[in-house]
Amino acid sequence: MQVDAVIVGDGPTGRLADRALRQLGLETVVVAPASPPGADPRTTALLPSSVDDLDRLGVDVRPRATALPDMVIETLGPFGLTAERFRASEVDAPYLALNLPIGDLSALMPVERRLEDRVVGIVHGTGLVTVVTEGGTRVRARLAIAADGKASPTREAARIRMWRQPLGLSALCAPVELAAPHDGLCIERYDDTGSITVIPVGSRDGSLISIAPTAEVERLAGAGIAAIEASARGRQPAYGAIRLTASPVVFPVSIGWAPSPARRRVVAVGDAAHVVPPIGAQGWNLAVRDIMALADVLAGTVRTGGDIGGSEALSRYTRRRRFELPGRLGAVGLLAGVATDGTLRGRLARQLGLGVLSRVSPIKHGLMRRGLA
Ligand SMILES: Cc1cc2nc3c(=O)[nH]c(=O)nc-3n(C[C@H](O)[C@H](O)[C@H](O)COP(=O)(O)OP(=O)(O)OC[C@H]3O[C@@H](n4cnc5c(N)ncnc54)[C@H](O)[C@@H]3O)c2cc1C
Repeated sequence: MQVDAVIVGDGPTGRLADRALRQLGLETVVVAPASPPGADPRTTALLPSSVDDLDRLGVDVRPRATALPDMVIETLGPFGLTAERFRASEVDAPYLALNLPIGDLSALMPVERRLEDRVVGIVHGTGLVTVVTEGGTRVRARLAIAADGKASPTREAARIRMWRQPLGLSALCAPVELAAPHDGLCIERYDDTGSITVIPVGSRDGSLISIAPTAEVERLAGAGIAAIEASARGRQPAYGAIRLTASPVVFPVSIGWAPSPARRRVVAVGDAAHVVPPIGAQGWNLAVRDIMALADVLAGTVRTGGDIGGSEALSRYTRRRRFELPGRLGAVGLLAGVATDGTLRGRLARQLGLGVLSRVSPIKHGLMRRGLA
């Protein structure tokens, strides 16, 4: 089989890449194994800038998403419980984020041409790259897009180097039903265990994310559903009883990126190119920026009749992504460190930091604008 571009992975990043490239008139195929329906408990909180970008690609998430106009950050420390409310209206934003289940997000980006198989290797040729699948199919293309997640076999096969640092933390994530209405309010609490966040979905549901040192998360996950619900209710009392509606899934938390995400007709995007802790809703929002930048570069290449997998196009893409990512990764990494530091120093830093934000609005609003952009 031969196409203009082969996309490896049909998570949200691969699907968005497929859509963006098809809009440029390129012939694509998505290669990925079948995924069990409803297996992923995550939701994706999309920042306003990502919602605008998705609009540009004809993906309207609004009908399926829950708007989050406000967020409260609480921190338990030497001064008791302190809290600060962050309102989208403070920075003239329509909402802080739109949140929707990851399965719904993927469903909004249907794939047109799909090969159900696992990629096991790539072969570089002249003017083409060949993706080889477990079932023995060979897909030739001018460009291969590695959107196959953080382990990314395609990135590894292309020898695109990924710098990654495990943080010794894990995130327990589960869909939940709340006894008290959430009114669109997301509450993120930092305490001696780590962080616990309920992100509203629909009118009565939410996504629970608890981040803590891996041993603590494993202990909690092993203690069973009733223990997880009791712990969530104690640490997030505002929602009343919290009931898990599906089994929790534990995600190891790491931080990392590929400083040069493109090499020899292969470009890594989404989690294949960068991973961040699930704090501050950055993960997939970074992937949206990858795809917008890639689509922009390829649009220029297509217009001038250039080679979409050639070194000129790939270098232009790398330059575009090199400048934004280190700053964002550094900020989220710092936040994750401070957020889960259980020492007195860490707890003090959290409370003092929140105190500064509540008293000095230019700093608070500046940070909010940067986080939402
Ligand atoms: C608990 C949690 C909460 C999060 N919340 C948010 C949030 O609120 N907002 C946000 O922006 N981000 C969030 N994120 C991050 C976000 O979920 C990820 O960035 C996003 O899911 C990455 O999508 P992806 O398509 O790049 O990778 P994946 O979703 O991992 O998809 C990878 C795809 O590649 C396929 N694949 C794997 N191996 C192969 C192979 N050998 N051959 C072919 N295909 C292969 C898989 O089957 C899959 O289809 C969160 C992450 C976590 C862990």
